[in-house]
Amino acid sequence: MIFILLLLTLLIMSTTATTAETRKFKLAPLPYAYNSLEPEISEETLRFHHDKHHAGYVAKLNTLIAGTPYEMMSLKSIVEKSDGAIFNNAAQVWNHDFYFDTLSPTPKSKPEGALLEAIVGEYGSLENMQKAMDEAAVNLFGSGWVWLVANNDGRLSIMSGANADNPLRYGLHPLLTIDVWEHAYYIDYRNARADAVRAIWNRVDWQKVEQRYSSVLHKGLL
Ligand code: MN
Repeated sequence: MIFILLLLTLLIMSTTATTAETRKFKLAPLPYAYNSLEPEISEETLRFHHDKHHAGYVAKLNTLIAGTPYEMMSLKSIVEKSDGAIFNNAAQVWNHDFYFDTLSPTPKSKPEGALLEAIVGEYGSLENMQKAMDEAAVNLFGSGWVWLVANNDGRLSIMSGANADNPLRYGLHPLLTIDVWEHAYYIDYRNARADAVRAIWNRVDWQKVEQRYSSVLHKGLL
């Protein structure tokens, strides 16, 4: 009898431990090989960017939310509702997951369909839209992110966000983003942010961006 009770206690303890474990956010693995975005982004950059910077935000977030109500929330909810250090780290985790997921070793090179129509409608051409994002990235003072976003009606705009800022805070739907923190490009491009930003376009997977836009048009959630 005592043995069975002991066994049950151990079983309950291990279940509790497992549940607590699953409340922690995990670093999403890089969705492709570290050297597969070369020459635009080097293996060394991706190893630092994903394994050091991105991993650092995940670890810090887990430390900060321990024992707070945020521990039980989704990452998206934390990004939408938190402030200060918890927001900074949660948004950096969300932004990096989204950024790495936007790039591909074998990207679809041009948008089509509803997304292309919206881009042409708003900017005249894909090239003009890319130029506008390049300019926004070059002109963003300090660290941050430049976003192509859609509102609830599917209307496109470009958002410059300082530090960890994120379009979800403003009820906007992120479609693609460029990381303009120096850690994203300094190993490969040094101070030449404009070159780094232009090179990124070769690795943007427009199929991903089309899928995100389609879910906005169909009122789906990202
Ligand atoms: Mn980054």
